[in-house]
Amino acid sequence: MRALRLHGPGDVRLDYVPPPEADAATAVVQVEACGVCGSDVHFVDGSARTGHVPISLGHEVAGRIVSAPNDDFAPGTEVVAEVGRFCLACPRCLEGRPNLCERARILGIHVDGGFADLVAVPVDSIVIRPPEVPVAAAATAVDAGATALHAVERRAQVRAGESVLVIGAGGLGTYGIQFAQLAGAGAVIVADTNARALERAANLGVDETVLVEPGGSVGRQVKMLCDGGVDAAIEFVGSASAVDAAVKSIRPGGRAVAVGVGIEPVVSLPVVLWSNNEYSLLGSYGSLPGDTATVLAALADGSVVAPETMDVDLADGAELLAALAAGDRTGPARPIIRP
Ligand SMILES: [Zn+2]
Ligand SMILES: [Zn+2]
Repeated sequence: MRALRLHGPGDVRLDYVPPPEADAATAVVQVEACGVCGSDVHFVDGSARTGHVPISLGHEVAGRIVSAPNDDFAPGTEVVAEVGRFCLACPRCLEGRPNLCERARILGIHVDGGFADLVAVPVDSIVIRPPEVPVAAAATAVDAGATALHAVERRAQVRAGESVLVIGAGGLGTYGIQFAQLAGAGAVIVADTNARALERAANLGVDETVLVEPGGSVGRQVKMLCDGGVDAAIEFVGSASAVDAAVKSIRPGGRAVAVGVGIEPVVSLPVVLWSNNEYSLLGSYGSLPGDTATVLAALADGSVVAPETMDVDLADGAELLAALAAGDRTGPARPIIRP
């Protein structure tokens, strides 16, 4: 079968490899769609590392069951795969935070992922796809959707009536905006460098949009729009400037949440402003088991809409990843690899 494999920084190849086989705990899924995440780009540009190389990238898998142990799932069943499998025994798993598991096995990072014709998936990571959800949208639910849900609900803890700033209106941000609205946020402000992304955010019914321009101050603009700052600011970009903007947009006692994946160190405010204003800066990583099913149900009943996506043939995947790693933006649409 074909697999888009990372061999090292800057080295992604479409290889021909033996197909995976089902075993007692693993099903084989025929990949129909696999989303391209910001972290995939970082594996290619060398700023983040996979568990080993070569490895098939891709952790937003949607497809059909080819074979499963014990006939758990009939061949042809439309499914998605949760991103991670956790040990359930380490201290973080035992405290109910398996997304921080010391022995997590993440598709496309520790085991071969979904930029391939077929992928092996642990049976307990499989979630059945509702028929109302198109396959590309279902792929985005797995990571972009579930990660945004975790960030809004558990890390930012958005409550009814609160004001929320979302920085970055791509795949994760589009979900983040809608989960903040579903949580009853009183005002949702969205900031992005891309005018088209802001247009799409406006169509979701957000209250204000802020176009981020070189030399501009998002924090100052947000504080003018939302008297004294927002209750919670969530950045989905992963740059130092996005985290900086989040911190500088919150009210005294407010929460800033960093979700994006980046390597720049964050230097922001003088210590006295942190202490005197009791600002919080929180990280948010991945999602918990069950979040993918929650996002799929929200897509199925229409309470959220999926981000804009763009199909890319598996054969063109290496070229796409190289372009993204070189900094070429494809626009706000989330690329979806289609084998
Ligand atoms: Zn991801
Ligand atoms: Zn664990």
